Amino acid sequence: MKIRVLGTAAGGGSPQWNCSCVQCARARRAGPPSWRTQDSLAVSGTGDTWYLVNASPDVRAQILLAPELTPRPGTRETPLRGVLLSSAELDHTIGLAVLREGAPLNVYAPPAVIGALSSAFPLRDVLAPYADHRWHAVEPGDPLRLDERLVVTAVSLGDKRPRYARGLPGRDWVVAYSIEDEVTGRRLVYAPNLASWPEEFDKAAAGADVLIADGTFWSDDELRRATRTPPRTAPTPPRATVMGHLPVAGPGGVGERLAALPGGRRLLTHLNNTNPLLDATSDQSLALASSSVEVAADGMVLEL
Ligand SMILES: [Zn+2]
Repeated sequence: MKIRVLGTAAGGGSPQWNCSCVQCARARRAGPPSWRTQDSLAVSGTGDTWYLVNASPDVRAQILLAPELTPRPGTRETPLRGVLLSSAELDHTIGLAVLREGAPLNVYAPPAVIGALSSAFPLRDVLAPYADHRWHAVEPGDPLRLDERLVVTAVSLGDKRPRYARGLPGRDWVVAYSIEDEVTGRRLVYAPNLASWPEEFDKAAAGADVLIADGTFWSDDELRRATRTPPRTAPTPPRATVMGHLPVAGPGGVGERLAALPGGRRLLTHLNNTNPLLDATSDQSLALASSSVEVAADGMVLEL
């Protein structure tokens, strides 16, 4: 299995256009090579056909920087065959509109996510005249085949809806994807949004050769502390856990959970632009480096 990490930032990217928190200001000073695009992953069994996990608003730039996703000379024949959606969040779905010039794609998502993209955020209907995508409902626990080698199984991570979808029905609004290469027997788990750490997810994570998990916030009150916005009448930024993200630090945090898993490579992604892990010299980065957990990077290539 070939994997290219396309983007590793949370919604808004790093730096975020309207933010001058400590980390965004540092990223602006360091310049574009240090910048991160919004989370997405490309995966392939054969190397000939590719699938994205999530379609971020940055997908155009991400594809241009990925040699594996270049169309063949003289053609408009992209190796991209489909997109798996891990949630209905805007930063995971808006990229589908960016990809509208291409051939029809297979779009895989839980029924609740497809429902949201057919109603509150009607991307499916909007895109139909441009590219006749094939939409496939993914039920957690039911394996489905992507190509000759890859079999993917969704793991439910709960019912955290996007803000625009509050009140919509459905059960599995956020999922992780466990992707197995039947030839090598090796397995990737991708979970950019962890509001909790359910038992089913723990089982899937335990045997993964590579696990890429939610590293949005270092601490629960990070957003509040990093973005004190005058005037005082401005709404107080919510806590990480309220936004659907277990923080990395602390008891029961993602860092501790990842470090406790046996074997394999453990990486963090979906970093918010306020996260001190964006600065490799921060105390938090040094603390993480003493565990077995790494921070994923845009453009990172893995082979399983
Ligand atoms: Zn910022």
